[in-house]
Amino acid sequence: MTKTSKTKTETIEVINPATEEIVARLEPASEADVDRAVTNAHEALSGPWSKMTPRERGRILWRMAEEIRNRKEELALLETKNTGKPIRDSMDEVDLTATCYEYYGGAVTKFFGETIPVADKGLSFTLKEPVGVCALIPPWNYPMVIATWKLAPALACGNTVVLKPASWTPLTAIELGKIALKAGVPKGVVNVIVGPGKTVGKRLASHPLVNKVSLTGETETGKEILKMASETIKRVSLELGGKSPNIVFDDVDIDTVVSGSIFSVFSNCGQDCCARSRFIVHRKIYEKFLENLVKKTKAIKIGDPLDPKTQVGPMIAAAQRRRVLEYIQIGHKDKAKLLCGGVAPSATNGKSKGYYIEPAVFADAKPGMRIVQEEIFGPVVAVIPFSDEEDAVRLANDTVYGLSGSLWTRDIGRAIRVAKAVKSGVISINSSHSVHPEAPFGGYKQSGLGRELGMKALDLYSETKAIFISEA
Ligand code: NDP
Repeated sequence: MTKTSKTKTETIEVINPATEEIVARLEPASEADVDRAVTNAHEALSGPWSKMTPRERGRILWRMAEEIRNRKEELALLETKNTGKPIRDSMDEVDLTATCYEYYGGAVTKFFGETIPVADKGLSFTLKEPVGVCALIPPWNYPMVIATWKLAPALACGNTVVLKPASWTPLTAIELGKIALKAGVPKGVVNVIVGPGKTVGKRLASHPLVNKVSLTGETETGKEILKMASETIKRVSLELGGKSPNIVFDDVDIDTVVSGSIFSVFSNCGQDCCARSRFIVHRKIYEKFLENLVKKTKAIKIGDPLDPKTQVGPMIAAAQRRRVLEYIQIGHKDKAKLLCGGVAPSATNGKSKGYYIEPAVFADAKPGMRIVQEEIFGPVVAVIPFSDEEDAVRLANDTVYGLSGSLWTRDIGRAIRVAKAVKSGVISINSSHSVHPEAPFGGYKQSGLGRELGMKALDLYSETKAIFISEA
């Protein structure tokens, strides 16, 4: 997938996916701008920020949260105009963003080293220190939220940062930079630059003065970052692709499970790394489940993101919708059965503009099919039947990814066995919720490296120093 449709010229044209109108034009950073941003961040390392106590930094993070909450409607509107996501989702995302700054403002005061008994006479203890300059590279699907998953713990630990948002969605990241300054983060600590990943992102991620790179993006981008980081042994954390399972056993109430899981794949128009894009359903209830799923899928309210009743808006860009439509064709060719959706009608919302697409349900999906193996990153679910618990686990694990997932059953023993057997960083039992600011989030296998959120994220942005004091 190329991003050129939104960056036809040197200038980045930020498009509203619901109207196809240009909402902003930005000049991308030059090589010299990248170097200047990194140098600023490097110089700011010896300034007051890293010397402040965690409590002092924490208070500033709290002020950021306060400012975000005060500007909730404005920020939500900006995010919706930039991403096409329903306004009610953007409002929730502003809350989640503010909560993250609050969480890390407090968490960092409880994050410290330990005293360790050692054989030699004396005292060994550890200190937590900032890593240094952190390059933060978020994606376009949850721009403000995912930038914050990186920015909040990085700042809490006393680092300085260069934040490069995705080219399709730079607007709220720019606001976060201004909010940090207003809240009292010293100049030079937060630097925001825009520009294509292939040039600006690459120069940033390979810059010798950058100590750590944190990417959320495609698995292929993650592999490239790892290679670049190896030159100077940068610290790296990666949140990458997913193809998460939603396992449904035959002892459940079908209606409850369909209602509880339908938006685990279709919310944000399926552009979600956690999307449960494989529904793995027991044969005994397979037909009834499909019937219910199709009925509810057809009833989803697709349309104007500014309408508070809208449940699914457009996709982010024409290129992304094309990619999804190609996968629909691939599904047909592989002989999966399309039960609904998968078309891009302007008729869906009575408008001729906007990158809309109807959520699609494929039945009779089989292991090995591309729609079952590959991350589509759109509103497409493949429904696969299974015959017993072992079969369900085998199907769930039959992918290179391991980010998230759900399982639905009333049998507690089975729930525990299956949750342990599924190879993913996150799994929910009888729920579709996998993101909680207080709990670690990240992937097994090719879904990533490291865990964001919770206390674990503080480890991603700090070095541990061991000090020994001799009694002798
Ligand atoms: P990309 O990997 O294309 O882009 C992510 C970010 O990396 C963007 O800011 C992009 O800039 C930048 N970038 C691209 N190439 C390079 C490079 N060579 N060097 C440095 N930076 C680069 O992913 P998408 O934006 O398309 O996001 C979708 C992907 O993100 C999906 O695969 C999804 O699964 C994953 N994702 C994972 C999550 C997780 O937590 N595991 C959460 C959300 C999404 P630019 O925009 O300018 O190209």
